[in-house]
Amino acid sequence: MSEESPTTIEIPSTITVKAFAEKLEKPVPEIITALLKNGFLAGINETLDFETAALIADEFGFQTLEEKIDEKRVDILNPEQLAEILKQEKEKNENLQPRPPIVTILGHVDHGKTTLLDAIRKTKVVETESGGITQNITAYQVEIKNRLITFVDTPGHQAFSQMRARGEGLADISVLIVAADDGVKSQTKEVIKNLQKDKAPMIVAINKIDKPGANVEKVKGQLADAGILLEKRGGKIPVVEISAKNKINIEELLETILLLADILKITADWKRKALGVILESHLDQRKGALATAIIKTGTLNEGDSIIAGDSTGTVRQILDFNKKRIIKAIPGSPITVVGLDNVCKSGSVLQVEESRRAARRKTRRSRLEMAGNLLNEKVSVKRINESMEEKDLPKLNIILKADAEGSLEAIKQILETIPRDEALLNILSEKVGNITETDVQLAMASGALIHGFKVMVPSSISQAAKKNGVVIKISDVIYKMVDEIKEQLSDLLEPEIIRTDLGRMKVLAIFRTEKAKMIIGGKITQGGVTKDSLLEIKRDKEIIGKGKVTQLKHGPKNIDEGKEGMECGLTYIPKDGMVKIKEGDSLIFYLEKEEKRKIK
Ligand code: GDP
Repeated sequence: MSEESPTTIEIPSTITVKAFAEKLEKPVPEIITALLKNGFLAGINETLDFETAALIADEFGFQTLEEKIDEKRVDILNPEQLAEILKQEKEKNENLQPRPPIVTILGHVDHGKTTLLDAIRKTKVVETESGGITQNITAYQVEIKNRLITFVDTPGHQAFSQMRARGEGLADISVLIVAADDGVKSQTKEVIKNLQKDKAPMIVAINKIDKPGANVEKVKGQLADAGILLEKRGGKIPVVEISAKNKINIEELLETILLLADILKITADWKRKALGVILESHLDQRKGALATAIIKTGTLNEGDSIIAGDSTGTVRQILDFNKKRIIKAIPGSPITVVGLDNVCKSGSVLQVEESRRAARRKTRRSRLEMAGNLLNEKVSVKRINESMEEKDLPKLNIILKADAEGSLEAIKQILETIPRDEALLNILSEKVGNITETDVQLAMASGALIHGFKVMVPSSISQAAKKNGVVIKISDVIYKMVDEIKEQLSDLLEPEIIRTDLGRMKVLAIFRTEKAKMIIGGKITQGGVTKDSLLEIKRDKEIIGKGKVTQLKHGPKNIDEGKEGMECGLTYIPKDGMVKIKEGDSLIFYLEKEEKRKIK
């Protein structure tokens, strides 16, 4: 073997098995086997951290370097890349100034998460003259000792945990809430496990201390058993005993958060272009697509060109969490952005671009890429999921778009109840937002129909769809949309054939026999016959042939219908090969009607 120096490759801080295999130019199964040998059970789409990837790369004779993210080289940042950039920013330590800490409250159900978020908001929220605390707030800020704290009601979105896994979460500090009368429960343990895995800074709030059954010491003991080392118990994790309901020690909890924030040195580069994370996005009838975001670093200004997920736009308005208009958003603030061309997924990164054109170019590129990926992904998923019985069934591919995650869920739940025994409904893609170019491209490539619920179709998209024969249906009532989908599925079904028996005839004479036609005479023994009946030939109790009647006569006269007891002559045309009728045969007359079947 020759003494070659090992090749050096750059690997990002996280990489999927598939992308890793491509980097090493090795088949995926080989990588999976090598991972298994080292004790990692990972599928093709699983993500490897840098350490694991480096270990395996070494086995294949590669040296590895951790790839730094160059923002200029990445089109659209994903949450992991954002986390990486924020980490790099801290390491560089230039232009950094403190920013408000971003805090989230986690814990077992019913331990008081919502009550605590409410209590903090009601006691401390900076209310504006527009007044009225808005319902369904996903994030808000409170002021204490002239400093701000941002609270986020974190949806359990995967993107947020992806960020966390890179050591830079959506939130800087997590408050683990445990009810003093209930103690550490399954979800408490789950939260602890995740926070510890990610080395996330936390504070414990022991809640409901007002309750008669409260036992704070017992809870602290349980926490110690679960690996949480509290202050004054040999550890460093701050703990505050509170009652969210009676608003006891809320102030103390907030001060503890500020103390921890100081220790953590939560900072941002206020001068750079803003980078944030989308918490929620929906369509507003008047304002168009709205997106609520938290600014992690940088300052967002009105007029900035932005990208959020696969949407782009120019910031037309920035609203603070009280829905009051502000002209710029500083790091750490929760805001709503008006001006995106479409809604985006929660967890998407909000990034500012040089110009609207650059933003558009980048999203266009990524939309195209996505359509391609989506297709590949769906094909492989389908292969695995499709059972043998389902393989031969007709299939309807659809692309679902809706105005909000909630609608999408509701629609999907109903669609799941559609029986799959005759035709299959295959949802190729489901997203919140208006119909986009990607949808049309995916529809073209897959023959799918696009169904939108309370969304819009920009006229350029509608034209492109028309030109390429892509069907887009928009509804604003869920059941109408579902009915339409059922109708389209029903169209795929073979019609049902309904047979009506008319009558019988005893064959008495054969007048003429041609290659594919006979003229015969007989007597109607039962029911009747029409001049367009279908017929079966019965001989010795067996059906030996089929055909149809094309002409019916009574004596020399053409008739439309013959009745029981009549003697008639008729022209018979065979079906499926000539079967000759003989004297003494019985003919059974019937009609067939095709009936469209419906999926219920
Ligand atoms: P979540 O599921 O964690 O959001 O819990 P909630 O905030 O909805 O609280 C669950 C129940 O516990 C509600 O009935 C609250 O009123 C009650 N609760 C919350 N905090 C306290 C508290 O400090 N003391 C008492 N007595 N009840 C509380």
